[in-house]
Amino acid sequence: MNPLKKIVLDAKKKHQPLDLHLHTRFSVDVINGNSFEEYMQAGEAIGIVPGFLDHFQAEKVGDKRYPFHEENVTNYFNAYETAKETGLRSFLGLEIDYYSPELHGDWNRITMEWLDRHKKEFDYLVGTVHDVFEGTITIPAELDGLLKTHSFPEIDAEYYHVLDRGIELGGFHGFAHLDVVYRFCGDKGVLPGKKEYYTDERTVAGMAACTRHDIVIELNLRGFDHPWNSTYPAEPLFQRFKDLHPKAAFFTGSDSHDVKTFERYAPVIRRYTERLNT
Ligand SMILES: [Zn+2]
Ligand SMILES: [Zn+2]
Repeated sequence: MNPLKKIVLDAKKKHQPLDLHLHTRFSVDVINGNSFEEYMQAGEAIGIVPGFLDHFQAEKVGDKRYPFHEENVTNYFNAYETAKETGLRSFLGLEIDYYSPELHGDWNRITMEWLDRHKKEFDYLVGTVHDVFEGTITIPAELDGLLKTHSFPEIDAEYYHVLDRGIELGGFHGFAHLDVVYRFCGDKGVLPGKKEYYTDERTVAGMAACTRHDIVIELNLRGFDHPWNSTYPAEPLFQRFKDLHPKAAFFTGSDSHDVKTFERYAPVIRRYTERLNT
C-alpha cells in the first residue's frame, strides 16, 4: 500500500490529527528555522503528530552548501535519527519539486537518481510544482518577473500542464497544494482574485488523476495566510470532490516554516481533520 495512505488511515482510526507539511531549518527558504526536536516537542504538547516536508530542489543539489548535497545528506539523516531517539512521534517526508519535462527533463532525472539512492530513508514522498517557465510562482517577485514575458492565463495553463505530468510520471505518494498557482491572486496580492479560480476544473482533474494513480491529495491549509484566503485545493472543490469520491485520500498540512506557525495552525488542522474524517 502507498505508505502515505497507510499513515493517514492509521491516524484516522486513532482519531489522531496529523500535520504532514512542516519545514525545518533544512529548507533553504527557512532562516533561523526550527529543528526536528522542536517540532516534535511542540507536536506532543498540542496533540498533533508532525511530518516533515523539507524542500528538495534538483537544481540546487550540486551546491556544496545545500543540505541534500551528497556530502551533507548524512548530516540531515543523522539529525533526524537523533531526534527520533527522544521517542517523540513524527514522520519524515520530502517535498520534491517536479519540473516541466520539456524545459527541465534533466532536473527531473537528477531527482529520480537521488531518490533511487535515498528514498528508503523517508516515510513518504510528496511531489510539488513551484516552477513555471523560468520562475517560481510561489515567490511574489518571481511571479512579477514571469508576468513581464507571459500572461497569467499562459502561466496557469503551463502550471496545470506540469502538474498533470508530475502526477502521471513522478511516482510520488502524495501531491502538494494542487492550485497553489493562485496563491497571490486576491486582496493585496500580485493579481486580483477571480471567482472562477476557486472552481477551476483543472484542479478537479488533478484530484481525479491523483485518485486514479493512488496518490494522496494534500489539503494544504496555509492559504489562509495568503491573498488566496482558502485551502489548496480551494474549499468548495475539495469538499465536493471528497463527497463524490469517498475513496479519495487526503492529508492535512499547514506548510509551516517555523514552530510558531505550526502551533497557531493547530485548531485549523483539527477542524479540517474532522471535516475529512466525516
Ligand atoms: Zn510547496
Ligand atoms: Zn512546503
